[in-house]
Amino acid sequence: MTFDRQTSTRDFAHARTVIPGGVNSPVRAFGKVGCDPVFYDHAKGSRVWDVDGNEYVDFICSWGPMIFGHGDEDVLGAVRAQLDRGVSYGAPCEAEIALADKICEIVPGVEQVRMVSSGTEATMTAIRLARGYTGRDKFIKFEGNYHGHSDSLLVSAGSGVATLGIPDTPGVTAKTASDTIVAPYNDVDAVRALFEAEPETIAAVIVEPVAGNMGVVAPEPGFLEGLRELCTQYGALLIFDEVITGFRVALGGAQEKFGITADICTFGKIIGGGFPVGCVGGSAKVMEALAPTGPVYQAGTLSGNPVAMVAGLAQLTKLQTPGVYEDLEAKGSLLAQLLREAAADAGVTACVNQFGSVATLFFTQGPVRNWTDAAKCDTDAFARYFKGMLEEGYLIAPSQFEALFVSAAHTEDDIRAFAAAARRTLMTL
Ligand SMILES: *Cc1c(COP(=O)(O)O)cnc(C)c1O
Repeated sequence: MTFDRQTSTRDFAHARTVIPGGVNSPVRAFGKVGCDPVFYDHAKGSRVWDVDGNEYVDFICSWGPMIFGHGDEDVLGAVRAQLDRGVSYGAPCEAEIALADKICEIVPGVEQVRMVSSGTEATMTAIRLARGYTGRDKFIKFEGNYHGHSDSLLVSAGSGVATLGIPDTPGVTAKTASDTIVAPYNDVDAVRALFEAEPETIAAVIVEPVAGNMGVVAPEPGFLEGLRELCTQYGALLIFDEVITGFRVALGGAQEKFGITADICTFGKIIGGGFPVGCVGGSAKVMEALAPTGPVYQAGTLSGNPVAMVAGLAQLTKLQTPGVYEDLEAKGSLLAQLLREAAADAGVTACVNQFGSVATLFFTQGPVRNWTDAAKCDTDAFARYFKGMLEEGYLIAPSQFEALFVSAAHTEDDIRAFAAAARRTLMTL
């Protein structure tokens, strides 16, 4: 099947004249996989239709938020009901309390939350809060982990920059970057050595508890536990960036899944039901260091936006339905198993990492347990695979260093058909 995408091609040419690169987030560009991006027209469930009327099965799912698929009726109903009551107040409203209550009920260790409008704002705030709370300047992040695009976090930052081959971005001063210490993922000894070298200057360790932005990489046993112990020992705060893992790897996120309580956690993506929402959470003691109770300033005109709050509440409430996570896990592991078989049958050098409803087919022998391993991937093979899958009618992220997102709206048939298409495509590589 060959898709006619001439309207997308025309839209892209137009978009490039008024938007840098034609996209409002670089990860949406298809440049590194050698084609033009698809312009979406509408989406429902596991399906997306482009502006030329082509139908695709979507494994991007807006990069995570659409855990129930597109246009979930419960989320839409809540949004419709709010629209007539006002779309932004810039003043307190009950929808904010309802969502805050829900998060505090669901997420272990969270007693208070501050709502923001993106994951980037959440992690930026978390770092500032950790510095303000501890009175220390530096923090440790992990190579290949992405925590949004604020200056100090944009060092060795995984997918977006890695796909474009940008090692360290212009615009971040050397002085800013020098407060960011980078360690290899899954290497607790490296973190211990950093603490031993500077026992009193490190404010925080920020980590994706399951990495999603170098492709999916699970924490090895003892890694997160080791970070927890080191932070406690050296008086630093442990920040779990749960922008992807939150409400995905378990209802209560990685903290529930691994039984480890971070000092601060950040959320985004799923938390807004598809609307721009981020959130910082933690104990009341830490959170009250934020203004107006504390000295650490943070603000937002559209923070706690009522439409976004009701959408998020509807989605989180629906996630409390029994069986949701078992279903996602079953679909995710089926996908991984079928992809492994397809790659083996096709004789392609590849490995699959999967954690619940996210998975990555890495074009390398593996195992992939950190960024050094992920960077060994054959990205040209990935590009050919990507284009083959697009022609089969599947949308996957246009980068080797991203995840396949499975939603509750994907059926077992969707998964099996995807794997069959992957097998056909891998055979042609
Ligand atoms: C997407 C992402 C962010 C940034 O969130 P935005 O809403 O895109 O600003 C931060 N951390 C992680 C782990 C992410 O995956």
